Amino acid sequence: MPNPSINPDAVKENALSLAAALGIELERAAELLNAHVMVTHDTGDPSAVFIAAEARALLARTLQHVDDVASKAVCVELVIGDALPQSTGTILWLSIESGMAVIARERRTGATETRLHPAVLFVAACYATAAVVREVIGDGMPLPRRERIVLNLEALGISEALAKRTIDLGHAYLAGAGAIGTGFLWCLRWFAVHGILNIVDFDWVKSRNLNRQLWYGPADIMRRKAERLAALAQGSFPELVLKPRVAQLQDLSDKDGDPQWLRRLIVAVDSRAARRTLQSELPGEVFDASTTDIREIIVHTNRQPTPLACMECIYPRNAQEDTRARSIAAALGVTVNDIRRGIIDQAAARLIIGRYPERNLTEESLIGEAYDSLFKSLCAQAALRSADQQQVFAPFAFVSALAGALLAIETVRRVGGEPVSYNYWRVSPWEPFDIRLQRRIPASAECEICANPVIRQVAAQVWESRQ
Ligand SMILES: [Zn+2]
Repeated sequence: MPNPSINPDAVKENALSLAAALGIELERAAELLNAHVMVTHDTGDPSAVFIAAEARALLARTLQHVDDVASKAVCVELVIGDALPQSTGTILWLSIESGMAVIARERRTGATETRLHPAVLFVAACYATAAVVREVIGDGMPLPRRERIVLNLEALGISEALAKRTIDLGHAYLAGAGAIGTGFLWCLRWFAVHGILNIVDFDWVKSRNLNRQLWYGPADIMRRKAERLAALAQGSFPELVLKPRVAQLQDLSDKDGDPQWLRRLIVAVDSRAARRTLQSELPGEVFDASTTDIREIIVHTNRQPTPLACMECIYPRNAQEDTRARSIAAALGVTVNDIRRGIIDQAAARLIIGRYPERNLTEESLIGEAYDSLFKSLCAQAALRSADQQQVFAPFAFVSALAGALLAIETVRRVGGEPVSYNYWRVSPWEPFDIRLQRRIPASAECEICANPVIRQVAAQVWESRQ
């Protein structure tokens, strides 16, 4: 059966990511992802119905075939709740009991629980999707693989009281309507959120983005992400006004004199450099999630004034990034200073088009795109041969979606007034999240923002009086 969620560009994007992560040839990666899987669930169990739908959607953006009917071609089947497998493939069982989700090769009896919040069930769906993809990838590959994944869903901190609470976002900004930004709104809609959210992104939806950017479909290609995401998601937010802003955040005119400017900033951009640029705008509160290709997610928050780390502390400019900037500049035929600006302008677009005449690139499709994003797509095969470039590959849908979901949960917990003591959490999509990795990281003495007494004083003056 054809899979409507994925197109040839998105298929290729997934294969590039997998090839880079595993250090294998592109053809082999494409072969692995051209797999048939199934999701079977107890149709009388609402939690199982919910997880099955989300897992199917995430799988359909990653693998070529998510089948409805059993056949010999099915290599992995996810069975959710009290249901029987239908295929002869490897069976992964997902059950939820007492706030714990278990994904395992062994069957556990019992229905899933009905009282769990959709955001929490979605996190379970992301991990179940990862487990299926990991099973499809098979033995001998450098990604963690576990017989059993046990997720303590209660540790995500969505109490029944919080789930019922009205969350007033006030006048907030979301920087980035790509993979993490779309995942954020996908999950945020399950909470009672009020206020205004400016969705800030200059970029267009690209064909290859469909492998990981939720909400978007083929009809959105070459339309502005900010406008499409606001239009597609607004119906799910009766009390939150989504305002599309086609711009880079630092160029918005609100900056001049609006007292609500960056009181609350949700960060879902796709590079370390962009995060530092955003932090230098001195936002009041930052909620941030990032992915390192398909391997890792970082969740970070800060609120000024604070002795704790900011994004510049968490994502300092490092030697690897400098090397990568030089590699990207060389590959695209632009300067390192161009790369540091983050976004492709017209002059750079012309240089890149000249460099890759066979790729049929257009100025329209390049201007406004992040260099990192373009490089992820254009130079992936070349980067396979160079270890220092491995961090630039796009994640799979379930990795970005998990990052977006954790970002939404963090935002809701903190804005909703729950006491949260950590400011940094490192999470793997392949292994159970571990709250022992939640840490409280102080500001760095090397940070250009936190270690500068003048900037600290300005941040204190701006935000101390308003929090
Ligand atoms: Zn800092």
